[in-house]
Amino acid sequence: MAIEPFDVVDLIRTKRDKGVLSTAQIDWMIDAYTRGYIADEQMSAMTMAIFLNGMERTEIRDLTLAMINSGERMNFDSLSKKTTDKHSTGGVGDKITLPLAPLVASFGVAVPQLSGRGLGHTGGTLDKLESIPGWRASLSNEEFYSQLEEVGAVICAAGSGLAPADGKLYSLRDITGTVEAIPLIASSIMSKKIAEGTAALVLDVKFGSGAFLQDIERGRELAETMVQLGRDAGVATSALLTNMNVPLGFAIGNANEVRESVEVLAGGGPADVVELTIALAREMLTLAGQPDADVEGALRDGRAMDTWRAMVTAQGGDPDAALPVARETHVVTASRSGVLVDQQALPFGIAAWRLGAGRARKQDPVQHAAGIDLHAKPGDTVTEGQPLFTLSADEPARFERALEAVEGAYRIGDVGDEILTGGPLIAGRIG
Ligand code: URA
Repeated sequence: MAIEPFDVVDLIRTKRDKGVLSTAQIDWMIDAYTRGYIADEQMSAMTMAIFLNGMERTEIRDLTLAMINSGERMNFDSLSKKTTDKHSTGGVGDKITLPLAPLVASFGVAVPQLSGRGLGHTGGTLDKLESIPGWRASLSNEEFYSQLEEVGAVICAAGSGLAPADGKLYSLRDITGTVEAIPLIASSIMSKKIAEGTAALVLDVKFGSGAFLQDIERGRELAETMVQLGRDAGVATSALLTNMNVPLGFAIGNANEVRESVEVLAGGGPADVVELTIALAREMLTLAGQPDADVEGALRDGRAMDTWRAMVTAQGGDPDAALPVARETHVVTASRSGVLVDQQALPFGIAAWRLGAGRARKQDPVQHAAGIDLHAKPGDTVTEGQPLFTLSADEPARFERALEAVEGAYRIGDVGDEILTGGPLIAGRIG
């Protein structure tokens, strides 16, 4: 049996006592954990020590590199197009990838979006797209590269070969209360994105009630950490710091989020979804060398829609097929006239999840037609009896727990009352 160069208990003690781990120690730790030499309970102690005491920038860089080296790296050198990608830290009603990938690809760049499924109250891009009849999330390597070359946009499942150490570590963090640590989030996201091989990357870092990190300053710290990690690895990286206190758009779910995305691609759609889609597209295209691209024009004149249709069709989907509709609906109306002053993202995300739009365990299926359609947004005037939002589910028994989740999460006030959105949608840019 090979002799291990370090003792994991020494490493745990070092982090517990606020010390700094060396590159060699971090490389070994990630490798030893991936091959099963370090036990889950030891890694749990380590992640908790990191959660409590943080990590130096050099340690975060080493951790990210070690996780990248735990698996394969993709390479787009043979493509004739530049690659540019986006990653969001996740939020409620966040369907931006759907209109964004084809919009950016319509300018002749390649957008390799390797996405995940939803867990908990934030939805997964693949779950949303799977509401399109026939659409396939899994592509072979050949299909992936040829779609990138021909269509430009691909949204598909990330293979398990990219940063496998992160998969193992993330599952452990999920059950040990150590998800919300900046060094761990930053290394987890960036290891996958750097291994994916994109030349440019725009990060949508969310803060607010529906985000991982509620506090804007912690969001900024996460964004700065990730931008630095990207640049250290030679990836042109920038970040937008965006507000997730209120759900994005009017649709929260899967099929209804696809419908809303198609509205944006048709030149319409909710103002906040359009604003964020355009801002992220500009960032991605600037990093790809097209700072003057007419992004709004591509939404208006159908170029982005053409790329969407080609992208969906290339993955077996029918862009003209009817999307699933739920068997049951329940409408919540305004109890009085006034102004909608509050609509909190997290409770609405939880309610959509309880309706069946999300999953509690990795292996659970989602109900594609389940979700919530909002009919008013904070700042809107409402009259008594007017529909405020509609819950959709296949089983009416789900309505009660969804309604419990949104109790106290929205409020009708009077003209002149403060609108509780927590500030502008785009709160800052790092890059
Ligand atoms: N998304 C990830 O991929 N990793 C994290 O740690 C948090 C969000």
